[in-house]
Order: sequence, then C-alpha cells, then structure tokens
Amino acid sequence: MRLALEEAKKAEEKMEVPIGAVIVMDGEVIASGHNLRETTQNAVTHAELLAIEKACEKAGTWRLENAELYVTLEPCPMCSGAILLSRVKTVVFGAPDPKAGCAGTLMNLLEDERFNHQCEVIPGVLQEECGGLLTSFFRGLREKKKEEKNRRKAEVEHHTGIDNG
Ligand SMILES: [Zn+2]
Repeated sequence: MRLALEEAKKAEEKMEVPIGAVIVMDGEVIASGHNLRETTQNAVTHAELLAIEKACEKAGTWRLENAELYVTLEPCPMCSGAILLSRVKTVVFGAPDPKAGCAGTLMNLLEDERFNHQCEVIPGVLQEECGGLLTSFFRGLREKKKEEKNRRKAEVEHHTGIDNG
C-alpha cells in the first residue's frame, strides 16, 4: 500500500486526483498505475485499469489468478468489473469511496457470489493516509479556484477604475 501511495503522489504531481494502484503476483510487484484521467482526457484511465493492463502484459495472460491489487481508493464499478474479469485474487484498498465504491460501500461487486469469480476484499488499509491525500488535494483545488476568482475580481475592479478615471 505504501507503493500505491507513491503512485497516488505521482498522479498528484500531474494535477490528477491522487489515486494509485499496485499489483503483486507471487510476492513480486509486477505492475503499478496512477489515475491519468485529465492527462489522457480518457474516462477509463483509472489507476487500477492501467495497472491491470500492465500486469496482463507482463504476466502474458489475462488471468491474474494469484494477484493482489492494492489501491488507495475503493474501486469504482468499472474497475471492479475489470478486477473480476481478470480474476484478481485479493483487493486491498485504503479509503472507502462514498460516491462510487463498489467493494462494499455502495455495493459489493467483488464479493457477490452470483458472479463466476469472487475476490477477497481487505478494506481500510492505511485509510487515513490514502483518504488524507485526496482530502488535501481537493482542498487545494478549492483554494486555487477561490484565489483565481479573487484575482479576476481584483482585475475587473482595477480595469473599471482605469476606465472611470
Ligand atoms: Zn475505477
């Protein structure tokens, strides 16, 4: 999970929502990924999907049967689907996602016995650190927006002053 957090920080450096994922197979890290939605302007470039793609490439198979996936935020429906389809064995996640979490928060796709594959879920690992990264990112974003608004307001006032003078 520490490595997943490092991945999340890479996303943050790119002004992306800081979410990172790492895949471990037979005790070895075989893939990692971080959210790249803004960079790619592609809605499917979530950390988990990018890591799964790399892991399949590296393992030479779509079956990641012995894999453990570590991700800083609870997987969304799309990523949960990809996790089931690639037969990941265990998912370890950090912060729960009240808006999209499909590993126990909104629903639990990963452990639903109606699917032909189930995944073991271990929630809340380094939850505070994983969630804190997201909270401070969004706080920073809000502050930036506020600053920008104030800057524009000041500019408008400045121009208006010149026009009137
Ligand atoms: Zn996702």
